[in-house]
Parts: sequence; C-alpha cells; structure tokens
Amino acid sequence: MFAAPLLLIGLIGAVAGAIPAGAQGARPGASPAGPPPEGTMPPPTAQVLADEIQDTAVSLRDGALKGTKAWSLLASLTTEIGPRPAGSAAGRRAVAWAVRTLQELGFSNVHTEKVTVSHWVRGEEAGEITAPYPQRVALAALGGSVGTPAAGIEAPVVEAASLSALDHLDAAKVKGKIVFFNTTTDRTRDGSGYGRAVPVRAQGPSRAAKLGAVAVVLRSIGTDSNRLPHTGGLRYDASAPKIPAAALSGPDADVLAAELAGGKPVRFRLRLGARTLAPAESANVIGEIPGREKPEEIVLLGAHLDSWDLGTGAIDDGAGCAIVVEAARRIGELKPRPRRTLRVVLFANEELGLSGAEAYAKAHAGELPRHVLALESDLGSGRIWLVESRVAVESMGWVRELARLVHPIGAVSGTNQAEGGPDLGPLLRAGVPTVTLTQDATAYFDFHHTANDTLDKANARDLDYNVAAWSAVVFAAAELPGDFGRITPPPPRR
Ligand code: ZN
Ligand code: ZN
Repeated sequence: MFAAPLLLIGLIGAVAGAIPAGAQGARPGASPAGPPPEGTMPPPTAQVLADEIQDTAVSLRDGALKGTKAWSLLASLTTEIGPRPAGSAAGRRAVAWAVRTLQELGFSNVHTEKVTVSHWVRGEEAGEITAPYPQRVALAALGGSVGTPAAGIEAPVVEAASLSALDHLDAAKVKGKIVFFNTTTDRTRDGSGYGRAVPVRAQGPSRAAKLGAVAVVLRSIGTDSNRLPHTGGLRYDASAPKIPAAALSGPDADVLAAELAGGKPVRFRLRLGARTLAPAESANVIGEIPGREKPEEIVLLGAHLDSWDLGTGAIDDGAGCAIVVEAARRIGELKPRPRRTLRVVLFANEELGLSGAEAYAKAHAGELPRHVLALESDLGSGRIWLVESRVAVESMGWVRELARLVHPIGAVSGTNQAEGGPDLGPLLRAGVPTVTLTQDATAYFDFHHTANDTLDKANARDLDYNVAAWSAVVFAAAELPGDFGRITPPPPRR
C-alpha cells in the first residue's frame, strides 16, 4: 500500500514501548500518549465511548496479548498453500483454504464471490551484462511484463535516475536501448519511501517505450541489499508498445551502475519467458460475524489472499489475512456480539490489477452506504504504531476514542488523510470511511515481493499485537452508538 507521509516523529519515541505488554485494565483515557497532535484535534463533541464499550475493547486488546491464533493461521496458509498468484492453481487452493478456515473458525455466511483475475506466468528468466565487463545478474520480470524473444534482447543501456530524469533524455538517446531506472527506495516506518519510489515500476516501462526503448530494467523497489529481486506489477499504457521489464536485485543494480559510471558503452541482455494467459476465475472469500442489533450495518475487515509467485506471501499479505480473521473471530466469541456485522473480505488479485476490490464494490454497490467503516491490513506483520483515518470531520471524536484504545500498546494518532489499503480504493471512492492501523514497515520492504517473503519474516508476538489493536478498534467501531459519516475520497493514486 501507499501511505501518506506524516508528522509525529517526536511523539513516537515517547510512546512506543512505554507501557509493558498487557498493562492490565489500563483505561484508554489514561494513555501516556496525551492529546492528539496539533492540527488533528477534533472539535468538542459528545463522542466518548461508554464504559462498557471501553471495558470490553480493553479486555479484547489485553486478552490478545496473551496469545492468539494468528501465527498458526499464517503458518497454515504459507505451508499448505505457499505462493498463490492470481490465476494459478495455488490461487484456487488458497480460496478453498480460506473457505474451510473461516467455516472451521465459526464464521457465518461463509461464501465466495466470483472475480475474474489476470493470469500471468513468469517462465524462465535470466539477465547478464555483456559489455564491457560481462556478468550474470539476478533479475525478476515485473508482474504483467511481456516476455522477450527466446534468444532474449541485447542492447546498449541508458541510465535514468527517475521518471523525470527519463523525461529529460533525448528520444534519440533512448531509441533502441534498454533503459535502466536507478531509483532508490527510502527506508521509512510508514511505507512512504515505497510510495515515492513505486511509480517508476508501474509507469517506467511504458514511459521508456514511448521514447523507443526496447526493454526496461530497474533497481528493485526495496530497501535491502540481498541479491534477490523484488517483483511487482507494472501498468502498460495502451498508447505505448509493450516492452519487457524486469527488476534487478540491489547489488546487481550497483554493478550495472558502476559499469555505466566507468564511461565505456554498456550492453545488457535479458531473456524473459513471461506471458499473459487468458483471464481466469477466482474469488473473494467472505465470512461474517452477524450484528445483534443492526446486522445490515457493516464494518469491513479486509486483506488480500493472493501473493506474488516468488515467496510464500507470508508478510504480503498472509499476515494481513491472519490478523483480520483472528481479530474478527475473537470478537465473535463475545456474548452478546457487537451491534453491527463484522465482514471479513479476503480479496482476490490485489497484486495484478485489484480486480477483487473492483468486483466487491460492484457486487455490493447497493450496500455500500451501509458500510459504516472499512479497514485493511496490508503492510506486513510489524506492530501498529499509527492510527490514521479518513472519516467525516464531525465523526473525528470517535476516531480519537478508537485511537485511545491502542495508545497503550504503542500507537499514536495521525491525520485524517488516510488513503486506506489498496483494496479499499473503490469503497473510499464511494464515500465509505476508513481507519488505517498503520504497521511498522521499517523492515517490510527488505522482503516484500521477493523470494524472501516467507514465514520466518513474521513474528508471532507482533501478530498478537496486531490482533490486539484490531480487536479493540473493530469491536468499538461495531458497537459505538454513532458512525463515521461519509467521506470525500482521497485523490487518485499514481
Ligand atoms: Zn499486499
Ligand atoms: Zn504486494
């Protein structure tokens, strides 16, 4: 996902870890986090959680810190299914796994909703610098890339530091060449470094093709120095020829940059067996905890079930699936259940076209005005440190109350400018408000979209902290007497 940059840096150190895990009975109002930061203070309001709601939310929160099923759910998904790209046989097995899991956990109304998904396959791939100093490199085709001819494409390389640097190159310098985008990704806690870097992956291939490039290679959008490339979707522009595109691992991008810096002509060859097959059928998987008083009003908890093909999709987004399922399951154990319905949606095909998100919004268009709040977990498995929102201004008092529930476990309050998770885009455009429980993404982009996205990168304790925050916040949202209004959608993503 793409998080907005934020402020608050001074506050974080003062809060994170200030309260020991499981601070029993801590009143949300007694949080050491203090008032919301300047500029986010809501207007005076009567929006204060009743004692019973606070007490239950706090007990859900602190109960989760004693241990949850999130880790075992994540282990099950990554072990029994593993990589599950859209359109693949494993993708279908993942849908069956999710249905079975939600049923076994006691969810109601467990069902699938058909989604047409893209079906792209990687095939064999290889890359090498052929001159002046020949070397093999580690690369991975970008998702959706066309392949090369079987013999590969070999051409001179021209470097561009960024999309705007490409715009400053003469088309004559680019024509017939392989463009090497050498854009670095900043390590940030909120994922904003990824958000700034990722347009080069999405748009770079078509922008280069318009200038006559024959292929694109780019420095992986990632923050590690492992010799593992980071894949991720590209977006071909219909007005440009489709050219092959691949990500180089960081160290290989360094080698290519060093050869280019030497001043001699540099040539590169890549061979990509990637191809796009006919669209396939998959499904969003849904399960509910029906509301006791207002079952028609929905609090949506989302994550995406698909993953890239290289790793087992543990942190992207197996962790999100485990967190939202386990949080809803725990709330479902309450007697009585909350007033509103909790709806878990495990979206199909986030990675290559967001078609699960679009299908959900379309199938439920008539019901979206009764989606009281939507939340998505798709930023790894790190602990939640920030509560952002996009709700009606007159409902911000409720967000302050929700945030106070998680201040004692290390989260601070952020802005009301949240963009929601990627699968929430169509909902936000329809006016559905969101609260974003932003995870610590400092290490996420070391592994994201690589072969290294495996179970060991998650941590059972961190998952419990996530479930603690989600259970408290979602329960309170489903129980509180007011709502979050309707929103003005955020500006479109790049
Ligand atoms: Zn994701
Ligand atoms: Zn992803």
